[in-house]
Amino acid sequence: MTNILNDCLAKSQALEIRQDKKLRPCCVFSGRGVDSLLDFQGYTDNEVQSACSKCISNETNGLSSRRDFYQNVLIDQDYGFFYDLQMSSLCNLQCRFCNPNYSTRLVPTYEFLKKHTDMEEEYTNVTSKWNPDLEKYLVEEINQKTKTSRVILSVKGGEPTIQPEFPVFLDKLQHKENIRLKIITNLQELPEYLKTAVGHFHKTEIGVSLEGVEETYEYQRELAKWDKFKNHVDELTYLKKHCDNLDVVFKPTISNHVIGDLDRLLGFLKSYDNQGWVRLKSGGLNTMVHWPNHLNPLHLPLLLKTDLLKIIPNEFSTIKSAIEKNPVNLKYWNHFIKHTRLLDEYYGTDFFNTPTGKIFQSYM
Ligand code: SF4
Repeated sequence: MTNILNDCLAKSQALEIRQDKKLRPCCVFSGRGVDSLLDFQGYTDNEVQSACSKCISNETNGLSSRRDFYQNVLIDQDYGFFYDLQMSSLCNLQCRFCNPNYSTRLVPTYEFLKKHTDMEEEYTNVTSKWNPDLEKYLVEEINQKTKTSRVILSVKGGEPTIQPEFPVFLDKLQHKENIRLKIITNLQELPEYLKTAVGHFHKTEIGVSLEGVEETYEYQRELAKWDKFKNHVDELTYLKKHCDNLDVVFKPTISNHVIGDLDRLLGFLKSYDNQGWVRLKSGGLNTMVHWPNHLNPLHLPLLLKTDLLKIIPNEFSTIKSAIEKNPVNLKYWNHFIKHTRLLDEYYGTDFFNTPTGKIFQSYM
């Protein structure tokens, strides 16, 4: 058995912290977390085989893996370390593909779902505050490392822009000129401190989550407002024009609830190509929700897949060929129907009023 972790830069030059406050090499590593970087050495071959299965499967299928990503950013772009932080689950939205580990807002929703399904508890690490000891450790380590080398600091949520600890943490970083800051945001908020801070870092990348436009957007991202989002996109576009070290990039993740409306999503993304936003290539467009399984478009009924394949734009070619290749899974499909109906009942929404729901209707 090959131990892929031994041949991965994440083992020694990356650190992921998620809700359980344990350390792991990267965000797709699905194994046990450890207490110290040195403990990364102690994963057995079997543990690695299972924890790194996403990289193994992507590479086997000819897709780009997280391991490739580290090779690109650490070696080719000359950064010494990659911090990937999820310090709190505090969020302002309750998106349909998300769970309470990433949005505190989803706790009541999951309690409702648990009462009405046989869903086992899928969240155990909801945190609405940053851990002060961990924050202190990170500030000291980053300040030390950035005296002599450049690092990448990625902060995800929850939603970092509404977490009160985030601006305080940024203030404590002493060598911002050696930090490439990356944040992922739903962009329902665009605080003043962030607009000011971007100029102080070596580079800043603001990744904006977006899976559809208008009614698809508001359906997928329960509690979000399309107009507010669009205004902030335009504000970021303006900021980008006046700030050379800022990159702005859309981060779509395609799920069953949006898969029938990709043409309009593509039109929206393309309209920003010439306004300073990073032009999305195949890898950026072809990301799918893999978990929960019932929201992954690969398992849909055959006739529905056939209909969808006719209307999904060719720019999503990797998703199209994966849909074509993968077998139907009726268990996931039935779960999707039940989950969608229950959430519609709970939120007072109607999937069948969305462009994708109109296509799915005759199959549900
Ligand atoms: S999951 Fe991939 S990127 Fe993460 S440690 Fe394993 S091989 Fe490296």
